[in-house]
Amino acid sequence: MFSVDVLIVMPHPDDAEFGAAGTVAHWTKEGKKVVYLVCTNGDKGTSNRSLSSERLAAIREREQRAAAELLGVEKVIFLGYPDQTLEDTPSFRKEIVRYIRRYRPKIVVTSDPYRRYIWHRDHRVTGQVTLDAVFPYARDHLAYPDLMEEGLEPHNVEEIWFWGSEDVNHRCNITDTFALKLAALRCHESQLKEIGMPNLEERLKSRAREMAEGQDFELAEAFHRERIAW
Ligand SMILES: [Zn+2]
Repeated sequence: MFSVDVLIVMPHPDDAEFGAAGTVAHWTKEGKKVVYLVCTNGDKGTSNRSLSSERLAAIREREQRAAAELLGVEKVIFLGYPDQTLEDTPSFRKEIVRYIRRYRPKIVVTSDPYRRYIWHRDHRVTGQVTLDAVFPYARDHLAYPDLMEEGLEPHNVEEIWFWGSEDVNHRCNITDTFALKLAALRCHESQLKEIGMPNLEERLKSRAREMAEGQDFELAEAFHRERIAW
């Protein structure tokens, strides 16, 4: 049966680059297959009043594809929900289960749902729904008999990793892939304009340095990593 090594479930175009691009670049260099699942089209991420949601969504899709290509990501799937509309619903959960069962990843990476206070609602919802989809919905054959009929057999994900976590227990060395992370982020030109980061490289580097604190390497991406004991 077809399977990939890593499925990244992100709320908006650009989230995976901020959270995990250095780690993704390592995985793809090692020959691992990585697939991106982008939940929303990011169509509200602008302060430019003359830019329509449709145009912005098209721009962000193009930017996301360019970033993924640079990182060696195998495939990018857009679920196309409007920005800021994700909810923890049975249909959204089932959709994530569908892709987990189709791509059968060893590792799923997503946004930490338990970050406190200021955290985009789409980030919270995506993390929670993905965690629930991984366990127990993707695993249990009785969860979705209709998916079984479509040939989507249950699947046990081995690990789930969260970026944006306040409870970090795993740090990946991205010293060698930092330049690629930066280049991938620069593909998201429409968003960098919004955030107004003229000194993107410096800010990213100091953040990556903080994440590597106490390690014997310079730059890191930090995650909460859960191994799933079935
Ligand atoms: Zn986001």
